[in-house]
Amino acid sequence: MTAANKKDQEYLILDNTVDLPLRLDAGECEGRFLKALRDEKRIWANKCPKCGRQLVVPRPVCAHCYDVEMTEWVEQGDEGVLEHFSISYYPFVHPRTGKIKPVPWANGIIRLDGGAQIWHEVVPPDPAQLKIGDRYKAVWKEEGRTGFIWDILHFEKVASDAPAKALAKADKEPPQLKEPHSLPGMLKVTYHHAPVTLPAGFLLQ
Ligand SMILES: [Zn+2]
Repeated sequence: MTAANKKDQEYLILDNTVDLPLRLDAGECEGRFLKALRDEKRIWANKCPKCGRQLVVPRPVCAHCYDVEMTEWVEQGDEGVLEHFSISYYPFVHPRTGKIKPVPWANGIIRLDGGAQIWHEVVPPDPAQLKIGDRYKAVWKEEGRTGFIWDILHFEKVASDAPAKALAKADKEPPQLKEPHSLPGMLKVTYHHAPVTLPAGFLLQ
């Protein structure tokens, strides 16, 4: 190939996107937990019969005891005490909305009255108001719950002198799954494709 030919050579780049809507099976444990959020605005943990550890979000086996099934279910209420928090001040594109989330915003770990910890957003994200030991209550999405952790919008601080509500004795069995519970997922990949010489020459004509 001559220098002149190289200079005149043209490459064709095609932009392609693979866009596959999909749903992810939540599995038995997480499915039961998410169903209770959606249908009853209740938070359940499951419990290891060996070490007593409770988990929100429930998992099939205890990670501490390794191979012990978490068979017991414990209702947690939707209030608890703040045990840890972090405040973020950097701009953040929210993965669920695609929009920039206003700063600051805060995440916290709350020890629910039933004994399990839950991680969630806490409001207000004010360092002067965020105090370990203060009480927080779940604020639920009232309409359009889909069985997702964000059916709880966030946890909101309640008055510091508010007494802890006694946990109502569970009046029903933990949720059962009659059909698989799935979560929305997305697989979207945009890429550039350079056809080999022969197809490219064909496409340029
Ligand atoms: Zn255990």
